[in-house]
Amino acid sequence: MLPSRPMRRPFAIAVAGALLAPFFHVATASAAPLKVVATLPILKEFAEQVGREHVEVRTLITGLESEHSYSPKPSDLKALGEARLLLEIGLGLEVWVGGLVKNAGTAGLRVITTSEGVGLIRDHASNAASAGNPHIWLDPENAKVMVRHIANALIAADPVHKDVYLKNLAEYLRRLDQAQKDLLELVASLRDRRIVTHHPAWPYFARRFGFQIEGDIIQQTGMEPSSTHLAEMAKRIKSGKIKVIVSEPQFNQKVVKALADETGARIVVLSPLPGTIKGTETYLSLLAYNVTQLVAALQS
Ligand SMILES: [Zn+2]
Repeated sequence: MLPSRPMRRPFAIAVAGALLAPFFHVATASAAPLKVVATLPILKEFAEQVGREHVEVRTLITGLESEHSYSPKPSDLKALGEARLLLEIGLGLEVWVGGLVKNAGTAGLRVITTSEGVGLIRDHASNAASAGNPHIWLDPENAKVMVRHIANALIAADPVHKDVYLKNLAEYLRRLDQAQKDLLELVASLRDRRIVTHHPAWPYFARRFGFQIEGDIIQQTGMEPSSTHLAEMAKRIKSGKIKVIVSEPQFNQKVVKALADETGARIVVLSPLPGTIKGTETYLSLLAYNVTQLVAALQS
Protein backbone atom coordinates (compact mmCIF):
# COMPACT_ATOMS: atom_id res chain seq x y z
CA MET A 1 0.00 0.00 0.00
CA LEU A 2 1.02 3.64 -0.21
CA PRO A 3 3.51 4.77 2.37
CA SER A 4 1.44 7.83 3.11
CA ARG A 5 -1.55 5.74 4.21
CA PRO A 6 -1.21 6.31 7.96
CA MET A 7 -1.29 10.04 7.28
CA ARG A 8 -4.26 9.96 4.92
CA ARG A 9 -6.53 7.77 6.95
CA PRO A 10 -7.46 10.20 9.70
CA PHE A 11 -8.05 12.83 7.07
CA ALA A 12 -10.33 10.56 5.05
CA ILE A 13 -12.31 9.60 8.13
CA ALA A 14 -12.68 13.22 9.14
CA VAL A 15 -13.94 14.18 5.68
CA ALA A 16 -16.32 11.25 5.51
CA GLY A 17 -17.55 12.05 8.98
CA ALA A 18 -18.15 15.67 8.13
CA LEU A 19 -20.02 14.76 4.97
CA LEU A 20 -22.06 11.94 6.43
CA ALA A 21 -22.88 13.27 9.86
CA PRO A 22 -25.52 15.80 8.81
CA PHE A 23 -26.93 13.32 6.30
CA PHE A 24 -27.29 10.58 8.90
CA HIS A 25 -28.77 13.00 11.33
CA VAL A 26 -31.51 14.07 8.92
CA ALA A 27 -32.10 10.54 7.70
CA THR A 28 -32.64 9.05 11.15
CA ALA A 29 -34.80 11.96 12.25
CA SER A 30 -37.32 11.46 9.44
CA ALA A 31 -37.03 7.67 9.20
CA ALA A 32 -37.37 6.87 12.90
CA PRO A 33 -40.65 5.03 13.16
CA LEU A 34 -43.52 6.60 15.06
CA LYS A 35 -43.89 4.91 18.43
CA VAL A 36 -47.37 3.64 19.11
CA VAL A 37 -48.83 1.58 21.95
CA ALA A 38 -52.02 -0.44 21.41
CA THR A 39 -54.11 -2.08 24.11
CA LEU A 40 -55.05 -5.09 21.95
CA PRO A 41 -53.19 -7.01 19.22
CA ILE A 42 -55.98 -6.21 16.80
CA LEU A 43 -55.24 -2.48 17.13
CA LYS A 44 -51.54 -3.16 16.67
CA GLU A 45 -52.29 -4.99 13.46
CA PHE A 46 -54.53 -2.19 12.14
CA ALA A 47 -51.82 0.38 12.94
CA GLU A 48 -49.22 -1.74 11.16
CA GLN A 49 -51.43 -2.20 8.12
CA VAL A 50 -51.63 1.58 7.73
CA GLY A 51 -48.22 2.56 9.06
CA ARG A 52 -46.06 -0.35 7.84
CA GLU A 53 -42.36 0.53 8.25
CA HIS A 54 -43.14 4.02 9.52
CA VAL A 55 -44.58 2.81 12.82
CA GLU A 56 -43.29 0.78 15.74
CA VAL A 57 -46.26 -0.66 17.59
CA ARG A 58 -46.27 -2.43 20.91
CA THR A 59 -49.34 -4.16 22.26
CA LEU A 60 -50.15 -4.48 25.95
CA ILE A 61 -52.39 -7.54 25.82
CA THR A 62 -50.66 -10.23 23.77
CA GLY A 63 -53.75 -12.21 22.83
CA LEU A 64 -53.45 -15.05 25.27
CA GLU A 65 -55.22 -13.14 28.01
CA SER A 66 -58.89 -12.21 27.96
CA GLU A 67 -59.49 -8.77 26.49
CA HIS A 68 -61.12 -7.75 29.78
CA SER A 69 -58.31 -8.35 32.22
CA TYR A 70 -54.73 -7.25 32.20
CA SER A 71 -52.01 -6.48 34.73
CA PRO A 72 -49.73 -3.77 33.39
CA LYS A 73 -45.99 -4.42 33.67
CA PRO A 74 -43.30 -1.83 34.49
CA SER A 75 -42.09 -2.09 30.89
CA ASP A 76 -45.53 -0.90 29.72
CA LEU A 77 -45.04 2.37 31.59
CA LYS A 78 -41.73 2.84 29.85
CA ALA A 79 -43.25 2.10 26.43
CA LEU A 80 -46.09 4.53 27.09
CA GLY A 81 -43.60 7.17 28.15
CA GLU A 82 -41.90 6.93 24.76
CA ALA A 83 -45.05 6.62 22.64
CA ARG A 84 -46.84 9.36 20.73
CA LEU A 85 -50.14 7.49 20.40
CA LEU A 86 -52.11 5.07 22.52
CA LEU A 87 -54.79 3.13 20.64
CA GLU A 88 -57.73 1.76 22.62
CA ILE A 89 -61.19 0.35 21.94
CA GLY A 90 -62.87 2.36 24.69
CA LEU A 91 -66.41 1.55 25.85
CA GLY A 92 -65.06 0.48 29.24
CA LEU A 93 -63.23 -2.55 27.79
CA GLU A 94 -59.76 -1.50 28.91
CA VAL A 95 -60.64 -0.47 32.44
CA TRP A 96 -56.97 -0.80 33.34
CA VAL A 97 -55.67 1.71 30.81
CA GLY A 98 -56.65 4.97 32.53
CA GLY A 99 -54.41 4.35 35.53
CA LEU A 100 -51.57 3.32 33.26
CA VAL A 101 -51.71 6.57 31.29
CA LYS A 102 -51.86 8.54 34.51
CA ASN A 103 -48.83 6.73 35.95
CA ALA A 104 -46.85 7.09 32.75
CA GLY A 105 -47.39 10.84 33.14
CA THR A 106 -47.00 11.55 29.46
CA ALA A 107 -48.31 14.95 28.47
CA GLY A 108 -47.45 14.37 24.81
CA LEU A 109 -49.38 11.11 24.51
CA ARG A 110 -52.58 11.16 22.45
CA VAL A 111 -55.19 8.56 23.30
CA ILE A 112 -57.18 7.40 20.26
CA THR A 113 -60.54 5.83 21.07
CA THR A 114 -61.20 3.74 17.98
CA SER A 115 -64.83 2.93 18.83
CA GLU A 116 -65.97 6.50 18.22
CA GLY A 117 -68.68 6.63 15.58
CA VAL A 118 -69.46 2.89 15.63
CA GLY A 119 -73.15 1.92 15.75
CA LEU A 120 -73.22 0.39 19.21
CA ILE A 121 -75.22 -2.51 20.56
CA ARG A 122 -76.38 -2.04 24.11
CA ASP A 123 -76.78 -5.29 26.03
CA HIS A 124 -75.95 -6.85 29.39
CA ALA A 125 -72.24 -6.77 28.45
CA SER A 126 -72.23 -2.99 28.31
CA ASN A 127 -71.17 -1.87 31.76
CA ALA A 128 -72.65 1.10 33.54
CA ALA A 129 -69.90 3.43 32.33
CA SER A 130 -70.10 2.45 28.67
CA ALA A 131 -72.53 3.11 25.88
CA GLY A 132 -72.40 -0.36 24.38
CA ASN A 133 -70.91 -3.83 24.10
CA PRO A 134 -67.17 -3.33 23.52
CA HIS A 135 -66.47 -6.24 21.11
CA ILE A 136 -66.95 -3.99 18.09
CA TRP A 137 -64.01 -5.29 16.02
CA LEU A 138 -65.72 -8.59 15.21
CA ASP A 139 -67.71 -6.79 12.51
CA PRO A 140 -65.42 -5.82 9.58
CA GLU A 141 -67.59 -2.77 8.93
CA ASN A 142 -66.66 -1.52 12.41
CA ALA A 143 -63.04 -2.46 11.74
CA LYS A 144 -63.10 0.02 8.86
CA VAL A 145 -64.16 2.81 11.22
CA MET A 146 -61.37 1.83 13.62
CA VAL A 147 -58.72 1.69 10.89
CA ARG A 148 -59.77 5.15 9.68
CA HIS A 149 -59.37 6.57 13.20
CA ILE A 150 -55.91 5.07 13.36
CA ALA A 151 -54.94 6.43 9.92
CA ASN A 152 -56.09 9.92 10.93
CA ALA A 153 -54.05 9.71 14.12
CA LEU A 154 -50.93 8.56 12.26
CA ILE A 155 -51.29 11.37 9.75
CA ALA A 156 -51.73 13.95 12.51
CA ALA A 157 -48.66 12.68 14.35
CA ASP A 158 -46.52 12.16 11.26
CA PRO A 159 -47.83 14.34 8.39
CA VAL A 160 -44.70 13.71 6.29
CA HIS A 161 -46.00 10.24 5.44
CA LYS A 162 -49.61 11.23 4.83
CA ASP A 163 -49.72 9.93 1.25
CA VAL A 164 -48.29 6.55 2.22
CA TYR A 165 -50.75 6.20 5.09
CA LEU A 166 -53.69 7.07 2.84
CA LYS A 167 -52.56 4.59 0.21
CA ASN A 168 -52.09 1.79 2.77
CA LEU A 169 -55.46 2.65 4.32
CA ALA A 170 -57.25 2.41 0.98
CA GLU A 171 -55.61 -0.92 0.26
CA TYR A 172 -56.56 -2.41 3.63
CA LEU A 173 -60.13 -1.13 3.39
CA ARG A 174 -60.41 -2.92 0.03
CA ARG A 175 -59.19 -6.15 1.60
CA LEU A 176 -61.69 -5.82 4.45
CA ASP A 177 -64.46 -5.23 1.92
CA GLN A 178 -63.55 -8.29 -0.10
CA ALA A 179 -63.32 -10.52 2.98
CA GLN A 180 -66.72 -9.34 4.16
CA LYS A 181 -68.27 -10.07 0.76
CA ASP A 182 -66.74 -13.54 0.56
CA LEU A 183 -67.82 -14.48 4.08
CA LEU A 184 -71.36 -13.18 3.61
CA GLU A 185 -71.66 -15.47 0.58
CA LEU A 186 -70.62 -18.39 2.72
CA VAL A 187 -73.37 -17.67 5.24
CA ALA A 188 -76.05 -16.94 2.64
CA SER A 189 -77.30 -20.52 2.23
CA LEU A 190 -77.54 -21.25 5.95
CA ARG A 191 -81.02 -21.98 7.22
CA ASP A 192 -80.55 -22.41 10.95
CA ARG A 193 -78.44 -19.54 12.27
CA ARG A 194 -79.18 -19.83 15.97
CA ILE A 195 -76.35 -20.13 18.48
CA VAL A 196 -75.70 -19.87 22.20
CA THR A 197 -72.45 -18.13 23.09
CA HIS A 198 -70.07 -18.45 26.00
CA HIS A 199 -69.50 -14.78 26.80
CA PRO A 200 -71.18 -11.84 25.09
CA ALA A 201 -68.41 -11.14 22.55
CA TRP A 202 -70.44 -11.82 19.44
CA PRO A 203 -73.35 -9.40 18.93
CA TYR A 204 -71.61 -7.30 16.24
CA PHE A 205 -70.30 -10.40 14.49
CA ALA A 206 -73.80 -11.92 14.59
CA ARG A 207 -75.45 -8.73 13.34
CA ARG A 208 -73.09 -8.47 10.36
CA PHE A 209 -73.20 -12.10 9.30
CA GLY A 210 -76.78 -12.88 10.21
CA PHE A 211 -76.30 -15.26 13.13
CA GLN A 212 -78.90 -15.31 15.87
CA ILE A 213 -77.71 -15.34 19.47
CA GLU A 214 -80.22 -17.12 21.70
CA GLY A 215 -78.35 -16.62 24.96
CA ASP A 216 -74.98 -16.23 26.69
CA ILE A 217 -73.62 -18.66 29.25
CA ILE A 218 -71.59 -15.98 31.05
CA GLN A 219 -73.63 -12.83 31.34
CA GLN A 220 -71.05 -10.76 33.09
CA THR A 221 -67.33 -11.10 32.52
CA GLY A 222 -65.49 -12.53 35.50
CA MET A 223 -68.66 -14.07 36.96
CA GLU A 224 -69.44 -17.77 36.83
CA PRO A 225 -72.99 -18.47 35.65
CA SER A 226 -75.52 -19.39 38.33
CA SER A 227 -77.05 -22.86 38.30
CA THR A 228 -80.44 -21.25 37.67
CA HIS A 229 -79.11 -19.53 34.57
CA LEU A 230 -77.47 -22.75 33.35
CA ALA A 231 -80.69 -24.70 33.82
CA GLU A 232 -82.56 -22.02 31.90
CA MET A 233 -79.97 -22.17 29.07
CA ALA A 234 -80.23 -25.96 28.91
CA LYS A 235 -84.00 -25.73 28.69
CA ARG A 236 -83.78 -23.13 25.93
CA ILE A 237 -81.29 -25.18 23.89
CA LYS A 238 -83.34 -28.37 24.19
CA SER A 239 -86.74 -26.87 23.49
CA GLY A 240 -85.45 -24.76 20.60
CA LYS A 241 -83.27 -27.57 19.24
CA ILE A 242 -80.33 -25.17 19.10
CA LYS A 243 -77.44 -27.07 17.59
CA VAL A 244 -74.36 -24.99 18.40
CA ILE A 245 -72.70 -23.51 21.47
CA VAL A 246 -69.88 -21.08 20.72
CA SER A 247 -67.06 -21.32 23.23
CA GLU A 248 -63.72 -19.51 23.47
CA PRO A 249 -60.25 -20.76 24.38
CA GLN A 250 -59.82 -18.11 27.10
CA PHE A 251 -62.62 -19.44 29.28
CA ASN A 252 -63.24 -22.41 31.51
CA GLN A 253 -64.55 -25.20 29.25
CA LYS A 254 -66.11 -27.29 32.04
CA VAL A 255 -69.42 -25.45 32.12
CA VAL A 256 -69.76 -25.51 28.33
CA LYS A 257 -68.93 -29.18 28.20
CA ALA A 258 -71.59 -29.98 30.81
CA LEU A 259 -74.17 -27.95 28.92
CA ALA A 260 -73.30 -29.68 25.64
CA ASP A 261 -73.47 -33.11 27.26
CA GLU A 262 -76.85 -32.35 28.73
CA THR A 263 -78.41 -30.89 25.61
CA GLY A 264 -76.67 -32.69 22.75
CA ALA A 265 -75.58 -29.38 21.23
CA ARG A 266 -72.09 -29.29 19.73
CA ILE A 267 -69.32 -26.98 20.88
CA VAL A 268 -67.53 -24.77 18.39
CA VAL A 269 -64.47 -22.95 19.71
CA LEU A 270 -64.09 -19.51 18.16
CA SER A 271 -61.86 -16.65 19.24
CA PRO A 272 -62.59 -12.95 19.60
CA LEU A 273 -58.86 -12.17 19.44
CA PRO A 274 -56.33 -13.17 16.78
CA GLY A 275 -53.59 -15.64 17.60
CA THR A 276 -55.29 -17.68 20.33
CA ILE A 277 -56.22 -20.48 17.91
CA LYS A 278 -53.89 -21.76 15.19
CA GLY A 279 -54.85 -20.21 11.87
CA THR A 280 -56.17 -16.97 13.36
CA GLU A 281 -52.94 -14.99 13.40
CA THR A 282 -54.27 -12.00 11.47
CA TYR A 283 -57.55 -10.13 11.73
CA LEU A 284 -58.72 -11.34 8.33
CA SER A 285 -57.82 -14.95 9.08
CA LEU A 286 -59.61 -14.64 12.43
CA LEU A 287 -62.79 -13.47 10.71
CA ALA A 288 -62.58 -16.23 8.11
CA TYR A 289 -61.91 -18.85 10.77
CA ASN A 290 -64.83 -17.80 12.94
CA VAL A 291 -67.31 -17.67 10.07
CA THR A 292 -66.25 -20.92 8.35
CA GLN A 293 -66.15 -22.92 11.60
CA LEU A 294 -69.55 -21.66 12.62
CA VAL A 295 -71.10 -22.27 9.19
CA ALA A 296 -69.69 -25.81 9.13
CA ALA A 297 -71.10 -26.58 12.58
CA LEU A 298 -74.54 -25.16 11.78
CA GLN A 299 -74.73 -27.07 8.50
CA SER A 300 -73.91 -30.48 9.93
ZN1 LIG B 1 -65.07 -10.06 25.94
